[in-house]
Amino acid sequence: MINIVIFGAPGAGKGTQATLLAEKYDFLHISTGDLLRQEVSLRTPIGLRAKAIMDRGDLVGDDIVVQLLHRALQQRSTHPDPDSQEDPWDVARKGHSRRPEGCIVDGFPRTVQQAQTLDFVVRRLKRTLDLIVAIDVPRDLLIQRIYERAAVSGRSDDTEEVIRHRLELYDRQTQPVLDYYRLSGRLTTVDGSGEISQTNSRICQVIDQMLAKEH
Ligand code: AMP
Repeated sequence: MINIVIFGAPGAGKGTQATLLAEKYDFLHISTGDLLRQEVSLRTPIGLRAKAIMDRGDLVGDDIVVQLLHRALQQRSTHPDPDSQEDPWDVARKGHSRRPEGCIVDGFPRTVQQAQTLDFVVRRLKRTLDLIVAIDVPRDLLIQRIYERAAVSGRSDDTEEVIRHRLELYDRQTQPVLDYYRLSGRLTTVDGSGEISQTNSRICQVIDQMLAKEH
């Protein structure tokens, strides 16, 4: 079982690629952005707190995001006991219709603090975070893609001012996460400037190599 983070700036295609990879490899897929949007649409207390923050393009607090990440693993389980000592990764695998080969996370971590938290959680579960795939896309193409997405997404954070702010935050808070992972030797950067299928094949090559080493 391998655990992967898909990393990239807004518009890099993290969500699209993570969805394709989860289908192909039967990975558990966790997107913190999707989890938050679901809370907002259900108007839960977390959703009500998060909405204004997301609409501004700011980062939601770690307490909320980490809580959602944990809950996502537990909800997939056949084991509803939140106090269970059982490894949520194992529990999540049992609740899955077929045995997934791993877990893929997109949208998290977005700060060095979150990256450290993820390492801590993974270590506590006696797992490893095996691979961080950074999708690299030039800035002008990112902006073009976000505008194209804005035309169809209906996302309240896809407006011009908010997009600029999200990219600034990415540069300031999220980009340093790359150095954190580069230093630990787990980072692979993939060219994401082409078609979705081209980027997908590049990422699949990296994952296939890793799976071949595992078996
Ligand atoms: P995304 O769908 O990944 O672009 O996320 C949409 C929005 O959700 C972001 O602009 C943040 O407001 C919030 N969000 C998603 N993931 C995180 C995270 N790991 N930490 C803080 N905020 C997040």
